This record gives sequence, structure tokens and C-alpha cells, in this order.
Amino acid sequence: MLEGCTPWPEERAQGYRAAGHWRGENLADQLAAAGAAHGDRTALVHGRRRLTYDELDRRVSRTAAGFVRQGIAAGDRVVVQLPNVPEFVIVCFALFRMGAKPVFSLVSHRANEIRHLCAISGAVGYVVPGTYQGFDHTRLALDLAGEFDTLRKVFVLDPAVKAPAGTPAGLLVPLDDVDAEPEPLPPPDPSDVAFFLLSGGTTALPKLIPRTHDDYAYQTRAAAELLELGPEDVYLAVLPAEFNFTWGCPGVVGTLRSGGTVVLMEAPIADECFETIERERVTFTSLVPTLAQLWLEAAEWNEADLSSLRLVQIGGARLHASVAERVSPVLGCRLQQVFGMAEGLLTLTRATDSAEAVVTTQGRPLSPADEVRVVGPDGDDLPPGSIGELLARGPYTLQGYYRAPEHNARAFTEDGFYRTGDLARLTADGALVIEGRIKDVIVRGGDKVSAGEVEEHILAHPAVAEVAVVPVPDPFLGERVGAYVVPDGPPPGLRELKEALHADGLADYKLPDWLAIVEKLPLTGLGKVDKKTLAADAAARIRATDTAPSEAAAGR
Ligand code: AMP
Repeated sequence: MLEGCTPWPEERAQGYRAAGHWRGENLADQLAAAGAAHGDRTALVHGRRRLTYDELDRRVSRTAAGFVRQGIAAGDRVVVQLPNVPEFVIVCFALFRMGAKPVFSLVSHRANEIRHLCAISGAVGYVVPGTYQGFDHTRLALDLAGEFDTLRKVFVLDPAVKAPAGTPAGLLVPLDDVDAEPEPLPPPDPSDVAFFLLSGGTTALPKLIPRTHDDYAYQTRAAAELLELGPEDVYLAVLPAEFNFTWGCPGVVGTLRSGGTVVLMEAPIADECFETIERERVTFTSLVPTLAQLWLEAAEWNEADLSSLRLVQIGGARLHASVAERVSPVLGCRLQQVFGMAEGLLTLTRATDSAEAVVTTQGRPLSPADEVRVVGPDGDDLPPGSIGELLARGPYTLQGYYRAPEHNARAFTEDGFYRTGDLARLTADGALVIEGRIKDVIVRGGDKVSAGEVEEHILAHPAVAEVAVVPVPDPFLGERVGAYVVPDGPPPGLRELKEALHADGLADYKLPDWLAIVEKLPLTGLGKVDKKTLAADAAARIRATDTAPSEAAAGR
């Protein structure tokens, strides 16, 4: 296994193999097998572009050979930052095939995040779209290549991008040129890392989550089987494909292993999604609650034919029962609640669950080999029905973040359970109900924002003496980013802080939406900033003014 990763203990690994969960499959071969079985069926759709399995397989093989020719070697890390376009799928599977490891970055990530990813992964390559939604990713990539000796290749999707004067020869490569006659390549080791997902950020900057071929092949197979996916299924990938939810629950990878069709959409605009569902006869999709709410509203007046939809998965953030109840009647399909994390553990409601369980719980673990515990502050297991921290271990839950031994010592128990930071309880039927969280993360729509990271950036502002970042309630996004600031001199305004953080290269979804200037921050008995009190205070202030942070932010 790649240096810096923590393998599963041999005894448990053997158990997963003996149980048939890990079958020594690799993700590249899975796609090739689907290609062989379903060659002329449609694998990918993006707008008017359609690729059959044969075409996809050919593109993947040629791109893999192209990466080798460009000097990328098995084991190398490559940051991949692309929107929901076929090239995202082609590049990832090409890298799987030749044994290099994609590091999945969000398209919204900027200098701050990508610099960190390059530093921690030692990436040799970085795949960018060009200029996308007004942001020049090529410029950023070239700047970072100047900072990191390790970063030798910038691959650009947009063929029109030209290397600016002074760019070192061979640094900037159009993705179209990553193309060569396929040659036999040694197959990747199934127990090795296939790619890296990013953590939702319990620490200041995201940690890298190594996902192995064995573990991800299992997760996607088990999820595809649970949904009874087959070649007739059509998946609408409307959330970013680099989210674990979209990529593999069963998502893109699960649909492709089943011979189905993946329809990629770059913007989750309800009307366009509905039109696409009607046109492509989409059978299932996955949404975060915020998006689901928008769909429910749009369905009131949009007359598109959604009758092909058989299932909508909703997850990534808390789904209120009042919204959950409306999904089946309004969209005319089954709802599946999904609780998951890039680190692994997935729980899902089942077709056989009662209507009440589907609306009020986040379902049961995907695998019979998943071990979940709910523990109190002392680490002891709590009786069913009690609320405590959720711990997880299993055949597709990580054993350690990449190159993070100190953090791993805190994030895992001695016997390898991952401390999720989520507060949960188990029902008598073994279903999980997520009740809140203890980790210092704001769930803004489906995006996870680390409070610590935003605090670090706000604190760097000269007008700020102290800061605490807390979630503030928002009727639309669930939570937004609120900042309590103790000023150093004249207090800064919200816009000023946002501009400073933006200039720092922080992704836009992490910028504060709401600001309160205070004289001092409340402390707990242990002398830590009392964030519970601040969050309650923010909620009370918002109730008092009856202004959601989204409205307040828009008004500034
Ligand atoms: P990520 O790794 O970015 O997918 O984020 C995982 C985190 O999102 C979990 O640890 C939870 O805090 C939160 N989350 C995911 N699904 C749900 C859900 N169905 N209900 C409540 N929180 C969720």
C-alpha cells in the first residue's frame, strides 16, 4: 500500500475477503468488464454528447497511455479539479488504469485549498478546466507549479488555452494531447489506494482519505445491489461528481459497473434537471436536502414528465421530516435517506422499511460487516435509544488519513474505530438517527466548512483580535457561516472580511455570511470558547430581527 496510508489489520482484511466483500477487483477492470458486456450501450451523457461503453473504454485506455507518455507513473498523485463533464470520468478511470492516484478537488476550491492539496499529496500533475465560472484555474495551476517543484504537469481541458510567455516547456498540456496508443499496463493492486477523497474538514484544512480499489469496489457494488441497478438504469449526476455521494453511493461508479447510463449535469438548476429527466428517462439521482427543497418547489409548476424516476436519494445534511414527507407524493418516486461520509460508513433506508422509518431515520449500514457504536464522553457504549458519538469501522471505512499520524491518533480508537464526530442514536430496529454533531464543522447546504479554517483566515485580518466561527440557522441552507469578532480597533464590516478572505484564496462557500461584533467571547469552565452559547445567541439574534443570514448577506 502507498506509503503514508494505514492498511486494515490483516485479520480483518482476511475476514472481508473470506466474506466475499473484497474480491480483488480493481475499479479500472470493473469499467472494462462493463465495457465488454455492454459495448454499444450509452455510458455517459453530457448535454448533446453521448459516449457508448466502447467509446468510454477506448478513451480511458488511450488517456491512460497518454498519461504514461507524459511521464506520470504508477503511484504518482494527480489533483483532479473538473466539473461534471465526461473528462472527469475519463481522467479518473485512466489514472486508475495506470496506477496513479487522483486527488479529488472541488471545482470551488481556490489557491488556499489547492496549495494544501499539492503540499500534502506531493502531486506531480494537476488537471484543470481552464477558465470556469469566471475563475482562471490555469493561472492558479501555473502559479502553484512555480511554488512546488513536485508539480510538473498542468493538464487543461480547454483546448484553446495557450501557455503564457515564460511558461516552462512541457508544463502546460492540453488534455486532448494526453492520448497515445494503448499498451498493456500492469494492473493496479486491489489492496492499494485507488484515489483520495477530501475530508469534510474537522481540522483547519481538509485531510486526504485514501480509498482502495477493494474497498470502493465493494462499496459501489453493495450500493448498486441494494438499489438493484441494471443496464436500464439512468443516473442523473447533478451534485459535484467528486463528492463521495455522487461518485460512489452507488452514483457514477456503481451505475457504470452495472451497465447503466450516467447523465452529467454541471448546474443543479431544477428546470434543466427536470427537462433532462424527461429527455433521458432518468431513473434515479442523489440530492442534498437544499436541492431537494428546490425541486419540490419547482415540481409545483413545472410540467415535465418525471415518471421515469424510481428513486431519489437525499443525504449529505439533515433532512427535515416535513420535507422528507413531500418527496414521494410530489416527485412520484421512492425516497431513500442516505447518511454518509467520504471516510466510508454509509447508512441507507431500504425499500422494505416502513414509510415512517424512511421519513424519520437515516437507515441501516450498507454492509453486514459494518460495525457501528454509539458511545458516551467516556467512550463506553450507550444503550439503544441514547444519543452519543457515532463510531464506525468496516470494510470500506478508512483506517487512517493520508500522512496524518498525529491526527489519526485522535480520530481513531485503539481498535480502529473512526470517531465520526456525529451525534446519533440507534432505534430498536437498528436504524440510525443523526441528532447533531460534536465536530466543529458547519454544514452549509451539502458543503462542509471547517470553523477552524475560517477562524484562521479571519484572525489574520488586522482589525480582528479574536474570532469564533459558528453555524447560524438558515431556512434555505440549513446552516450558514457566522462569525463573532472581537475587534482590534475600528470593527471590520462583513463585506470587508469577505473580500479579505476571498483575496486570501479561500473558496467562496467558506466566506462568512453573518457577522456579530462583540467585546469578548464567552468561555466554558475549561477556558475554551463556548461555541454552544454563541450558536444559541446567533439563533436568537436572527429570530429577533427575523432576518435569515442569506437575506442579511444579500442586503449588504
Ligand atoms: P462528507 O464527508 O463531506 O460527505 O460529510 C460527511 C458528514 O456530513 C457526516 O459526518 C455528517 O456530519 C454529515 N451528513 C451526511 N449525511 C447526513 C445526513 N443524512 N444527515 C445529517 N448529516 C449528514
